[in-house]
Amino acid sequence: MTESTLLRFALMATAALLVLQTSGDVSHVLSQEQTQGDDEQQMGQEVFNELKAKGEIVESSPLYDQLRPIADAITRAAQPQYNHPFKFYLVHETQPNAFATPGGNVYVVDSLLYFVKNTEELAGTLCHEVSHTIHHDTITLMEKQRNIEKREVGAAVLLGPTRAHILAIALIGKLHSLIYSRDAESRVDLTGSDVCVAAGYNPWGLVWLFQDFKNANIAQVPQLLSDHPNDQHRVDALERHFRKNPQAFGKFNSDKRSATPFSAPKNASETFLH
Ligand SMILES: [Zn+2]
Repeated sequence: MTESTLLRFALMATAALLVLQTSGDVSHVLSQEQTQGDDEQQMGQEVFNELKAKGEIVESSPLYDQLRPIADAITRAAQPQYNHPFKFYLVHETQPNAFATPGGNVYVVDSLLYFVKNTEELAGTLCHEVSHTIHHDTITLMEKQRNIEKREVGAAVLLGPTRAHILAIALIGKLHSLIYSRDAESRVDLTGSDVCVAAGYNPWGLVWLFQDFKNANIAQVPQLLSDHPNDQHRVDALERHFRKNPQAFGKFNSDKRSATPFSAPKNASETFLH
């Protein structure tokens, strides 16, 4: 689908929602609580279908052997805080990155496994992404950014798309340019650090990653960083959080030299989901 087609769908779908919301048929109105879970699952499924259609999802690769133990530990720690199962997929894209969609899917770009300098940095990144899902940040952002095009209302009514579809279409177009507020990012950093501790990973990994980013050549800075700019406030907030909870965090070493080495096999083979 081209970008303009996506945009047109999003606009039409949004307009349809407006009509549905103002139709006054309360018998079909569900509470936000009831609909959000299903919306998120459907939205995630549509993004999955789109990535699969583009041939980006890695079906099998030795890289999964490196990712799986970390993903499994994080899933066990984070799952009680989210009502759909977390699932991790490797995807093939040019820039090292990771992103989570509503519904529990977490996508890890293969090159991220070569970018991180140790296990804790990778774990910290994944704990952060999982926490966006726990906080429903994506769906909140999509709803905030939605614009209503009234002239599209007529066409949209004919199509009758669901709310999840509307949001998914909008999300697919923005997957790589989601800009969360600094407050949202900071909150997610803290939740992510809690998840990392619960999963048994040194939560300083995320701080080390920020430091790496700060020192990296700007051309090599992954998308992850332009979405999540290095911000001393965020590092400070993490350090305050660690100090406030010495029982949970005190046992972890802040010295990067204590990190667990991580290495992904060079030129690992990949087969793709079709
Ligand atoms: Zn983030």
